Amino acid sequence: MTANLYALFASRFPADKTACCIETQDGQYYTWGDIERASARIANLFSSLDLPSGARIAVQVEKSAEALILYLATLRAGFVYLPLNTAYRAAEIAYFIGDAEPAVFVCSPQNFGWVAQIAFKAGTRHLFTLDESGNGRRNSGSLLARAMHHPDQFETVEKQADDLAVILYTSGTTGRSKGAMLSHGNIASNAQVLQQYWHWQADDVLLHALPLFHIHGLLVAANGALLNGSKMIFLPKFEAKEVCRQLPRSTIFMGVPTYYVRLLASSEFDRNTCRNMRLFVSGSAPLLADTFAEFAERTGHTILERYGMSETAMLTSNPYARERRGGTVGLPLPGVSVRLIKSDGDGGDTACSTACEAGEIGNIQVKGPNVFQGYWRMPEKTAEEFTADGYFKTGDVGKFDSEGYLAIVGRSKDLIISGGYNVYPKEIESVIDEIDGVLESAVIGIPHVDFGEAVTAVIVKRPEAKLTTADVIALMKTSIANFKVPKQVFFAEELPRNTMGKVQKNVLREHYATYAALATPAAGGVTPS
Ligand code: AMP
Repeated sequence: MTANLYALFASRFPADKTACCIETQDGQYYTWGDIERASARIANLFSSLDLPSGARIAVQVEKSAEALILYLATLRAGFVYLPLNTAYRAAEIAYFIGDAEPAVFVCSPQNFGWVAQIAFKAGTRHLFTLDESGNGRRNSGSLLARAMHHPDQFETVEKQADDLAVILYTSGTTGRSKGAMLSHGNIASNAQVLQQYWHWQADDVLLHALPLFHIHGLLVAANGALLNGSKMIFLPKFEAKEVCRQLPRSTIFMGVPTYYVRLLASSEFDRNTCRNMRLFVSGSAPLLADTFAEFAERTGHTILERYGMSETAMLTSNPYARERRGGTVGLPLPGVSVRLIKSDGDGGDTACSTACEAGEIGNIQVKGPNVFQGYWRMPEKTAEEFTADGYFKTGDVGKFDSEGYLAIVGRSKDLIISGGYNVYPKEIESVIDEIDGVLESAVIGIPHVDFGEAVTAVIVKRPEAKLTTADVIALMKTSIANFKVPKQVFFAEELPRNTMGKVQKNVLREHYATYAALATPAAGGVTPS
């Protein structure tokens, strides 16, 4: 029997193929039959290109029903789907193309010029465009124009459970992104566990406001609805007003904590808006206890917080039917083994490491059918991140309470999560250090009411340099994605260092946390994940 993830979804599609699978904000309907036929056409197009087995199809497009169909078509045709954040600019895309060597790249029509230069130089064989206007309209891009000439039937390619299905790039502390390789079996097992654990029901309607290039929107939210044969209402992006308008027609909503903060800030959001809702899920970053409590008070609903990462999909979740504890990410999901290992100062995974008692803080390590196959073309890095007995070192630090609920207390590697996006200080520091007049820099996350953490840069200038905060931000906006650009820049005489010469980021965090209240949201609004 095939382990192709698409075949699993297709086996759960409703019998009535004229039922709605996706409804878009502008009122377009895509039936389950439309999804089958459109994904067949694109799968046929890919098959006609004579791509090598395991070819990567890299995709950087705005959210649309067609973008989801493209994901399904890639699975169907047996290739590897590689979604990229729409905020990435030329230097970042050049890195991903160079590293992943995709055979096909699908981009937005407005990016065609600069993407084509990078892709063709790197030897990408096929470049298509897809815009967000959807429904195969004229000018919706070359992908659909070409696919229209292919048949609307396709026999889904047979796959083994450990064949690659998706590569999700995560940033690395060295500043280099790593491609987390997820197999058909990894993704299918997690989707099936979540379907049971969150009690997906036949008449559920998912309000989908997350982006499709990240694990949360693609593998947790969209896969959940696909596996359950449930309708999705697709919003191009999160906007509190539109979410409030659509909530009464929905039963499930998934978001990053920033979404919940923004909903609570909206006067339209109340019990009546949520009258038909069954479940609100939060993840990708810590949900503040205040948000959890205020949400329950305002709506009568208790947000269900879960924890996972690109490398592992979902690991723990608060229960559906039992107590959901604020400030915790719940219990290990069925089939997932989560253990905490006392830190020995070196990642806490050596033979002398010991397991933590309840209440003790330790490094989170995990094992299960959901855990990825390794980092793309990084066998040594992959080996480093697994223990001798096969546990993956998440890099997160946490503690269990006496009833087994896990609380995440920090990140061992100084990762910043801003608006649900991961930002790795090292990458930003190396961009800042290139700026004329900069001697050195340190980038930290400062608590921020809206973004969770605000990317904050502390810079030591060269003597006589005339650099201003505005100069730094303007320069950075031209070279990196907006969500990585520091929201605050401070100038300091020197950086605090320990005896080993390492910058003491904890000292900087404490010092600059007092400025948190001054933080202002970046132009461009919410950057969800
Ligand atoms: P990503 O691979 O982008 O999904 O990021 C994964 C990281 O996000 C994890 O390693 C955690 O550090 C963090 N994360 C995900 N969910 C939560 C949560 N509910 N609470 C705290 N941190 C979380």
